Amino acid sequence: MAKRIFITEDEEDIREVIKCTLESFSYEIQAFESAEECLEETKKNLPDLILMDIMLPGMDGITALEKLKSQKETQSIPVIMLTAKSSEVDKVTGLDSGADYYLTKPFGVLELAARVRAALRKSEAYQKKSEVLTLGGITLDADKRTVTKNGEPVELTLKEFELLRLLMENKDRVLPRETLLDEIWGYDYVGETRTLDMHVRTLRGKLGDNGETQRYIKTVRGVGYRFIGASEA
Ligand code: CA
Repeated sequence: MAKRIFITEDEEDIREVIKCTLESFSYEIQAFESAEECLEETKKNLPDLILMDIMLPGMDGITALEKLKSQKETQSIPVIMLTAKSSEVDKVTGLDSGADYYLTKPFGVLELAARVRAALRKSEAYQKKSEVLTLGGITLDADKRTVTKNGEPVELTLKEFELLRLLMENKDRVLPRETLLDEIWGYDYVGETRTLDMHVRTLRGKLGDNGETQRYIKTVRGVGYRFIGASEA
């Protein structure tokens, strides 16, 4: 079955180019001029992927992204943000509500197609892997998107959740920083790698990982991080 993609872009020329390009790759496209129209349509049918411009008349793309990521029905749909300025890129990558990828205008059609394919592949892999992981008193439920520690709920942001999930799925394996950045922030993420350290720090705080009596995420100096899910200091 053809994958359905929603495009929200107010500039007609760009909207048409995206539409034609993706249709040539056999995707089923629905195009919208405003975020409001796109969100309205998601109440009737859900796409496999959304391309969302940031600067839009009416509701802007960032607000729309936050709405999509805050609703259960739409939060797992991958969203690619279309940015026009580097200041917008900062805004998107700094967001915890989590755009899956971004494309900076002007972009080539092959780049567009590659990004769409990558986002769809990642989301399929995630859907297949839905499961409940329990390690060292921490339970992560991928379907419900909940985490508990010794039965007590732990509130995580979307990025913290994805980070923990990736680490837990690869218990005892060292995940290089580049892998984590690629998987969670997009494969061409060019922002500061400090973003990753910041997320690891807040995640440790929320899990009660104090590095001594409680230890879940180990720093592997110069390489990345490893989930040990035990108290090995
Ligand atoms: Ca625009």
